[in-house]
Amino acid sequence: GDEFVVLVGGAVRGGEKVEDRLQAVRRAVAEPVEIGGRSFQVTCSMGVAAYPEHGRNATELMARADAAMYRAKEIGRDAMQVFTAELANRAHEKLVQQEELRRALARSELFLQYQPQMDLSNGRIFAVEALIRWRHPERGLVAPGDFIPLAEETGLIGPIGDWTLREACRQNKAWQVSGLPPIVVSVNVSARQFQEKDWVERVAAALSESGLEARYLELELTESMIMEDVQQAVETMHRLERLGQRLAIDDFGTGYSSLASLKRFPVGRLKIDRSFVRDLPDDGDDAAIARAVISLAHSLHLRVIAEGVETREQIDFLREAGCDEIQGFYLSRPIDARALQAILCIPAL
Ligand code: C2E
Ligand code: MG
Ligand code: MG
Repeated sequence: GDEFVVLVGGAVRGGEKVEDRLQAVRRAVAEPVEIGGRSFQVTCSMGVAAYPEHGRNATELMARADAAMYRAKEIGRDAMQVFTAELANRAHEKLVQQEELRRALARSELFLQYQPQMDLSNGRIFAVEALIRWRHPERGLVAPGDFIPLAEETGLIGPIGDWTLREACRQNKAWQVSGLPPIVVSVNVSARQFQEKDWVERVAAALSESGLEARYLELELTESMIMEDVQQAVETMHRLERLGQRLAIDDFGTGYSSLASLKRFPVGRLKIDRSFVRDLPDDGDDAAIARAVISLAHSLHLRVIAEGVETREQIDFLREAGCDEIQGFYLSRPIDARALQAILCIPAL
């Protein structure tokens, strides 16, 4: 696809270093390309392995150059990284972690916490977001940011995502059966799940298995996963909508969705990303962005929720700006199902 191997053979001439040659390759790649009258520029990340110190055959050299390239990408793209012993350890660690994650599901080490969402007009908890955690036997509690990327890379996100969906539906139905006022449960969807051919059927199966009505389940999508293939995404979203499914756009404002496509998405609400909420109300730029997102959402007849609300001042600002709903530590951190049940018993906060 977009990976290339460069073999720098022969002895390097006097005074010249391998790095110099690679920099020359990089400069050549960075030359702007003209397509349809517009100029485009590409960058590249390079991983370097040398014979014989980093590997004694082609397979070893390629694997190590690959590990170095991934490191280069992490550093911030458009970078070059030479293979090191530390990288060898990391590659090994990653393999171990992958095996552990594979077993985590079977050993019931994964569980969900729930973070309440409040309607600012009446103080009611009307929904919760399900957030996955991994109780690792040695490392303790592992946050999703530390294993979801690995799950996506290895395809384990398939079974893990299915489990999350089923567990969230089961729990929500259980709250309803126990007599609590019905609420919506929001589940985060990863790009890879969303692109699976039978994704809509899997959602339908989770609903029918649990007996939860579709309107009590919401799926959180991100702009980037939709923008990868807008046509396909809109089609999938319409199929979900026909199930009676609610859809939201998570981390809104951090992706690249065009306003033209936003109006085609059958979504019910936008979640203003935490990064725009954090410095409210003092940061003038963030205040302007928050107001703009709220008014954009309302013009498109969408509801809008602010994520990561931690202070009274943020709430005051958001309420005044017309924001419909809030979620964040001010209200509650993500908590276990049992603790959440106690909060749901309170009629209005
Ligand atoms: P997200 O969907 O944007 O979730 C909100 C994150 O913000 C959660 O972090 C939550 O704990 C945190 N948060 C909420 N309120 C506050 C606040 O007031 N202050 C601060 N500082 N943080 C707050 P968490 O649980 O670590 O999740 C991180 C991300 O991992 C999520 O971001 C979501 O993208 C992903 N994720 C979580 N669970 C799942 C899952 O089941 N499946 C998939 N695919 N992704 C998940
Ligand atoms: Mg979310
Ligand atoms: Mg978010």
